[in-house]
Amino acid sequence: MVVLKFGGTSVENAENIKKVTAIVNSHNDSKIVVLSAVSGTTNTLVEVNKLLASTKKDNAIILIDKLELSYRQLVNELFSSEKHQLKALSFIKGKFEELRSYTNKTPQNEKIILAQGEIISTNLFQIYQAELGNTSLLISALDFMSIDTVEEADIASLKSKLTRILSDNNHIKTFITQGYICTNHKGEIDNLKRGGSDYSASLIGAAIDAKEIQIWTDIDGMHNNDPRYVDNTFSIEEMSFDEAAELAYFGAKILHPQSIIPAQKNNIPVLLKNTFNPNDKGTVIKNCSSSNGVRAVAAKDGIIAIKIKSYRMLMAYGFLKNIFEIFEKYQTAIDMITTSEIAVSLTIDNPTYLTEIIEELQLLGIVTVDKQMSIVCLAGDFSQSGKGISASVINCLKDIPIRMISYGGSNYNMSLLIDSDNKVNALNLLNKGLF
Ligand code: ASP
Ligand code: MG
Repeated sequence: MVVLKFGGTSVENAENIKKVTAIVNSHNDSKIVVLSAVSGTTNTLVEVNKLLASTKKDNAIILIDKLELSYRQLVNELFSSEKHQLKALSFIKGKFEELRSYTNKTPQNEKIILAQGEIISTNLFQIYQAELGNTSLLISALDFMSIDTVEEADIASLKSKLTRILSDNNHIKTFITQGYICTNHKGEIDNLKRGGSDYSASLIGAAIDAKEIQIWTDIDGMHNNDPRYVDNTFSIEEMSFDEAAELAYFGAKILHPQSIIPAQKNNIPVLLKNTFNPNDKGTVIKNCSSSNGVRAVAAKDGIIAIKIKSYRMLMAYGFLKNIFEIFEKYQTAIDMITTSEIAVSLTIDNPTYLTEIIEELQLLGIVTVDKQMSIVCLAGDFSQSGKGISASVINCLKDIPIRMISYGGSNYNMSLLIDSDNKVNALNLLNKGLF
């Protein structure tokens, strides 16, 4: 079996849904099609939740009405038989009546509202397959995808539930399901966090030991640099799981970082493809050797650098432990870290508990904080040809102030912290100098 996941822009309008259908039908293997919400829908649902929280119910209704209108238009354009068009319209009507019925924000209402995007896209897709006479089965992710008490995917339960569903329906070749949504340990509707549809696809692929996990988006695979800021980038045909994990985590928007892990653990290739240019090879992420030298560059914004300076650190042990415990207490992940004998600098991207963290760190030393920083990540294999790579990277950036450098944490990554104002310039200089 293969898993085919399509992102929000791939199901954005009638024309694109037809493209997705052609891609799905071109696969002879049995498949599970995982869909995101139509692009923009989850953002709108997040807005609706905010308005309900601020008791601006009327404004929430205006947003919901507007969204409903866009779906009616999509349905009118997509379907040609009256029967299926009416079926789709009546489904939309029911869903939007439900959305309008939530009058306040509760944690459960919020999650139910957020889940509707994927529920709508998959239902419309399935009705469209029926109109075309293609046999398919819509299976609800809520029946097999779940997270446990610490919000981690429950892989054992996914495996047994999904395998059961598939074997009960072994005459079906095309299954359709939602990305992103799941149930939690209380059995309530929940989700895998924003952008989580890729993660759903990878978890599903791992659970059924798929031949391949295909992630279809609107770009020709993973590029060697960020095409939003740099001209003349090119897509990379092949990369290792480790390289892809570094790039996805440090800013390559094409793939949700968590989605590498299930695929890598089960050694299932992940193919990144473009719905709008299906003939392009795209990028395959698999168990291969990493590129000798720099394979790609990516950058992640919104980084906060924290420096803790203390003479108590000099020749002492346990100092780092005391620092890390504070971050653990506030459930804040550290991305980069560099140390000197009397100071530690580290970065975080989640500012939620910044004030509390600083207060506690101040008990250990003098704390300075730099905001609006960016991590520039270089991925590749730096183990064999380590010679000269760091020199050429630093040389490219010789006119840009570098706040931190992290090298050697893994063989596949070198990270530099710079002011976000210098990011575009840095990415362009690296592009010129390294590729
Ligand atoms: N629809 C969800 C989001 O926009 C999940 C996804 O598309 O991956 O975050
Ligand atoms: Mg995405």
